[in-house]
Amino acid sequence: MSAFKTLDDLGDVTGKVALVRVDLNMPMDGGSVTDTTRIQASAPTILELADAGAKVLLLAHFGRPKGQRNSTMSVSMTLDAVEDVLGREVMFIPEVAGPVVVQSIGILRNGDIGMLENTRFWAGEEANDPEFAAAIAAQGDIFVNDAFSAAHRAHASTERLARLLPAYAGRAMERELKALDAALGNPEHPVAAVVGGAKVSSKLAVLEHLVGQVDHLIIGGGMANTFLAARGVDVGKSLCEHDLTDTANAILDAADHAGCTVHLPYDVVVAKEFAANPPSLRTCNVHEVAADEMILDVGPQAVEALADVLKTCRTLVWNGPMGAFEIEPFDAATVALARTAAALTSEGSLVSVAGGGDTVAALNHAGVAGDFTYVSTAGGAFLEWMEGKELPGVAALRQ
Ligand code: ADP
Ligand code: MG
Repeated sequence: MSAFKTLDDLGDVTGKVALVRVDLNMPMDGGSVTDTTRIQASAPTILELADAGAKVLLLAHFGRPKGQRNSTMSVSMTLDAVEDVLGREVMFIPEVAGPVVVQSIGILRNGDIGMLENTRFWAGEEANDPEFAAAIAAQGDIFVNDAFSAAHRAHASTERLARLLPAYAGRAMERELKALDAALGNPEHPVAAVVGGAKVSSKLAVLEHLVGQVDHLIIGGGMANTFLAARGVDVGKSLCEHDLTDTANAILDAADHAGCTVHLPYDVVVAKEFAANPPSLRTCNVHEVAADEMILDVGPQAVEALADVLKTCRTLVWNGPMGAFEIEPFDAATVALARTAAALTSEGSLVSVAGGGDTVAALNHAGVAGDFTYVSTAGGAFLEWMEGKELPGVAALRQ
């Protein structure tokens, strides 16, 4: 991992203007934020800079206003939540550049915090326009990026600004980059990857990258059905991408070639209807799935074997649930494997990193998200990182 600067590398920031890219895309209901996880993640960075005497200006996008002002997507809707989490007053500034921002900076005292308007109200943001970025940079002395979740986009506030001002990773960004590096960049072997979720098609690039990186590839969820079908198993009415069986076979061949052991379930939980505890529920060998049945979870014998695999590993990276975990009892494999991983992590024998919207929900459901080494809430950015891509926002910090 080539080096990037962190807040430890800052000199005296008293009176300096710190432009801090954060993630304010929090779920809303009726005009108020319902989950403050994202701003909580960046609170240490914001408070550290403010306490060091900087004037902190928060910078973020919110929703998809497509380059136009739209009052329903003003970041000011998050202001109350941000003030609550920070325990400080935050001054809302309805621009990102120009005289209003200059005046506001004049009003802010050292250690005060301001919030600039939604960067995506201006087309220059998503176009990564140099002039737009330069206009924002003109008001700042340093740039701090604390939004890993936006780092897969080469936008003005995520990429260009880092090239125009002295740029630093915030504390949340620093933690995320270190955790991801420990999981896939420079991990202790053996490494296991769990890849689940609904479809192979949404994670092809992830699978193709992982077979060259990890020692064990554990495939679960709906995507396991496509691999089973590729191996000649009749998966009945299961979610299955039959047009991707050649691709699945190519991935299995590549894994074989790379010395990566692929684990597919050999027992499964099936039902004829997708409902909680349906009367047709049963567990069977993968070769015994009836034509009118659907595979909805990995079976208990396979889960036990997978737990034994994890016990031999030093590192785990996990994306995608093992079954249709939203509906009981199809959460069983995901919950059991998550608890095994959490226990091994607590014992100190496993470094465990997980990410993905549904994966985070599943780990919370299992009650073990806090026991993993790191859980990433960055959706798209986490997946692109799992594909082995260099994220533009991260690359710009490394220069
Ligand atoms: P993430 O958001 O963590 O990247 P995905 O969105 O890829 O995960 O996948 C999660 C979805 O996959 C869940 O809605 C889950 O119900 C579904 N899923 C998992 N296993 C199956 C299965 N066997 N059949 C149908 N859907 C499944
Ligand atoms: Mg999902």
